[in-house]
Amino acid sequence: MTDTLTTPSWESAVLRSVPSGFLAHDWQPATDGRTFEVRNPATEEVIATVADCAAPDALRALDAAAAAAGRWALTSPRDRASVLHRLTDAMIEHRERLARLITLEIGKTITEARSEVDYAAAYFRWYAEEAVRPHARSTPSPDGKSHIVTVAEPVGPCLLITPWNVPLAMAARKIAPALAAGCTAVLKPAALTPLSSLALAESAREAGAPPGVLTVITSSDAAAVTLPLLSDPRLRKLSFTGSTPVGRLLLQQSGACVLRTSMELGGNAPFLVFDDADLDLAVREAMVAKMRLGGQSCVAANRFLVQEGIADAFAAALGEQMAAVRVGPPDREDIGLGPLADHRAVDKVRHLVEDAVSRGAVVVAQADIPDGPGHYAAPTVLDHVPADAAIMHEEVFGPVAAINRFSTEDEAMAVANDTEHGLASYLMTSHIDRARRVAARLQAGMVGVNRGLVSEVAAPFGGVKQSGLGREGGPEGLHEYQQLKYLSLPGFHT
Ligand code: NAP
Repeated sequence: MTDTLTTPSWESAVLRSVPSGFLAHDWQPATDGRTFEVRNPATEEVIATVADCAAPDALRALDAAAAAAGRWALTSPRDRASVLHRLTDAMIEHRERLARLITLEIGKTITEARSEVDYAAAYFRWYAEEAVRPHARSTPSPDGKSHIVTVAEPVGPCLLITPWNVPLAMAARKIAPALAAGCTAVLKPAALTPLSSLALAESAREAGAPPGVLTVITSSDAAAVTLPLLSDPRLRKLSFTGSTPVGRLLLQQSGACVLRTSMELGGNAPFLVFDDADLDLAVREAMVAKMRLGGQSCVAANRFLVQEGIADAFAAALGEQMAAVRVGPPDREDIGLGPLADHRAVDKVRHLVEDAVSRGAVVVAQADIPDGPGHYAAPTVLDHVPADAAIMHEEVFGPVAAINRFSTEDEAMAVANDTEHGLASYLMTSHIDRARRVAARLQAGMVGVNRGLVSEVAAPFGGVKQSGLGREGGPEGLHEYQQLKYLSLPGFHT
């Protein structure tokens, strides 16, 4: 994938501190003219100022989405697919600029930011291809008296709420299937990371998305813009990615208008290493599962459950790798970890490490971090972490690997499933029978078997228990934006 020398039209608007959001179909200020600042977490400097939308702005966005809904639903699947294909091409063309924007607003390394652009573009390509696949079913009733025809229709205007940790790809994972299904969408990005969403909206417009099909409401007060939409009967769907507590609240609020909901919530992924695992493979995949996005991922390995026979070797080898991670300015090619999102993230990591150590955990290794400015946290390996340490129960969202040792498979399963979450889990073993048995017993929506990466556009991403409802990606991701209508036609035996 390459980047051309042309400048994308969103660049000047997004980065020249234009105090605008992307309401309705254009760069527009908030009704009351208020703005908020976006800062670079590596330097703590202001990089842009965007519209601070409030309730009237949110309702303007929904007006546009509702007005566009009928026509977009009737646009042919091929024409909707063409918009998504052109958007894919635009993202690939401007890959480097989009990656630098992500690095600026969230501090992820430039290498990871490029991967995020590829991942986001892949969702648009996948759903451009899915948009034209038929989803109808036709069958006679059992008694032959009627004929059942089932068609999938778009659910209608959607509110899409995204988190800061994967700002472009989480938006893509919702927008692509929504538009492919024929829905219109209002996107509410996290206040920390509105810029990549604004760039995406401008790119969608240039790719031919008609007015109102995709709008963006940027705001420093999330509830002020989402609550009026959730109580407006024109909205028909909420798709949310974020923390479990906010997800619970939004599920309650979605009851007012009985909305379709998709909930991609928090995780507490166990990473199980059995004595029969290939040690080198286990350590390599552990680094992927733990250190992608510096641990700021819902599918990040949160608890390393390691069998006693391999635990010493695993802890030492993982410690060596973690201590060698170069931490520093994320725009440098040689850097393996940039800053965390903000000072609260650093404080949380520090608290979790101190709590574990106070309960008997041992620090095996710790990497060096630069002095400020920037919200840096040290990659750390903790061994002998007791079950009552907070890190065993809370999402770390940072570069700390906590090892808890076990002796039997039953013991490992009990600890692994002892959580309200059930998003991703990982297991490392050389025995296929154990892999199948343990995968079946893990209470999780996704299981990585000898792999530390489960994210894939063609796969149904999502959780069980309090990690969420519904799936994103794959054909299942499209169904989240469709509702079934059944036609009853005369049969041959009436
Ligand atoms: P968060 O605090 O729940 O925020 C997520 C989004 O919801 C942001 O846009 C946020 O806006 C908005 N929001 C917050 N409070 C709200 C309210 N009362 N009403 C309406 N919207 C509200 O989560 P986060 O800290 O951004 O993201 C980290 C969490 O997301 C972690 O728990 C992680 O596991 C989860 N996550 C899950 C997945 C998945 O696929 N399952 C993927 C990525 C992340 P503001 O930020 O502007 O307040």
